[in-house]
Amino acid sequence: MIEVDSLDELRRSLAGSVLTPADAEYDAARRCFNALVDRRPSAIARCAGAADVVTAFDFARSHRLEVAVRGGGHNPAGHCVTDGGLVLDLTRLRAVEVDGEARIARAGGGSTWLDFDPATQAFGLVTPGGVVGSTGVCGLTLGGGIGHLTAQHGLTCDNLVGAELVTPDGTVVRASEDENAELLWGLRGAGGNFGVATSLELRLHPLERVVGGAFAYAGPRARDALRRFRDVAAGSPRDLSLQASLSVDESLEPALVVLPCYTGADADPEALRALRSAPGLVDDGVGAHTFLEQQRVVDSAYGENRHYWKGHFVRELPDELIDELLARVVALGRPPGGILIESLHGAPKDVDPSFGVAGFRGAAFNISAQAVWLDPALDEQYIGWARETAAALEPWSLGGGYVNYMQADEPIERVRAAFGAEAFDRLQALKRRYDPDNVLRRNQNIPPG
Ligand SMILES: Cc1cc2nc3c(=O)[nH]c(=O)nc-3n(C[C@H](O)[C@H](O)[C@H](O)COP(=O)(O)OP(=O)(O)OC[C@H]3O[C@@H](n4cnc5c(N)ncnc54)[C@H](O)[C@@H]3O)c2cc1C
Repeated sequence: MIEVDSLDELRRSLAGSVLTPADAEYDAARRCFNALVDRRPSAIARCAGAADVVTAFDFARSHRLEVAVRGGGHNPAGHCVTDGGLVLDLTRLRAVEVDGEARIARAGGGSTWLDFDPATQAFGLVTPGGVVGSTGVCGLTLGGGIGHLTAQHGLTCDNLVGAELVTPDGTVVRASEDENAELLWGLRGAGGNFGVATSLELRLHPLERVVGGAFAYAGPRARDALRRFRDVAAGSPRDLSLQASLSVDESLEPALVVLPCYTGADADPEALRALRSAPGLVDDGVGAHTFLEQQRVVDSAYGENRHYWKGHFVRELPDELIDELLARVVALGRPPGGILIESLHGAPKDVDPSFGVAGFRGAAFNISAQAVWLDPALDEQYIGWARETAAALEPWSLGGGYVNYMQADEPIERVRAAFGAEAFDRLQALKRRYDPDNVLRRNQNIPPG
């Protein structure tokens, strides 16, 4: 427990505010996306700027409190909240400044895509972000970033050009190509291991309208539809990003949703024709709309469901693996949540691997078993389903998994494999420089070694 006097002192020294269990807002502020994670921090410091982050780090150090960093609160591992420690809550840092001429956006440390996209669209510009608006811009970018514009403009972190960071010793550090370039390399995929980003600078691209939405397939032909999705992605259309979600229908048979996002000039592109004519189509919700409408195609309830995600980057999606996925999605005998299949064709492959630490751009797809349920009595069954489904992917895995989707129980070997041994050594050297005491360990952790 922190003494009341100390908390008062913290309150006085922050431009932002402090929440404790005595405050009415505390329960909502400690809630994270995943209802499986229910932790009670001693205090939540709502930082109003870099100086507040410095003060909060200082307070945590002098009171020996574990630190958690909260951006959009969406990490499925629940890394944004800690039991008994101090949460550095960035939700007041949501400003997004856009330089339309330079085509750069500066996003506050706690901004979400709901803040970012309207701000950049006011200039007719975008960066490739996440598919759910309420996800944190910084959290997602620092872990890589896969979404509706991946094929066109790469991973989100491929568009990261600068950052302002507060390190746990209270130093404010800038990272760009000209300044601390090695740190910028590590920020392009290795998460919040080195400091709290009070802002990130992202490159922007002109785009206002897309052809997108969802195709839904069901019935015995869902297998053929999934093969068609795979074949369209294999053609690597540069102006079409693709993801798919496999789940079950009311009769517990496989059902597939494909989410295309086309940005080319063709009024009737062949790739979309191929998806539309795939067997088993039961709903065609694909058409022309604004980018902001596209960013609303997917949504997910916050803090209500229990989640456990586990997956692999795979080098290919052969028929054999498709059959395996179709068997796994019905294996639980009740709706399991789903299996997300994100294509990594196109722009991620153009980027030199030395550009950033995100090590998965060589994969064909990111496949994730996403168990979603409500009843705590079913925890074991659902967690078991996700683990077994991920295990079934192993023969096709490139090794490692996507740090943005990892649960907290992943062993360090899997985090190391996500980057590769050589890159992991470089990350450990960065960690020793910027966070030698591993203050920032509530993440997919890179220990200082
Ligand atoms: C519904 C949903 C949809 C998602 N969609 C996508 C998607 O389309 N594409 C994709 O790639 N990922 C997606 N993700 C995964 C998401 O990108 C990661 O879980 C990410 O960590 C979430 O960031 P956050 O700020 O919202 O989460 P938080 O839980 O607030 O933060 C997670 C961790 O990120 C780090 N972090 C966050 N902000 C900062 C900061 N300013 N400075 C330093 N470290 C920071 C910290 O280590 C923090 O503990 C999705 C997750 C959910 C739940």
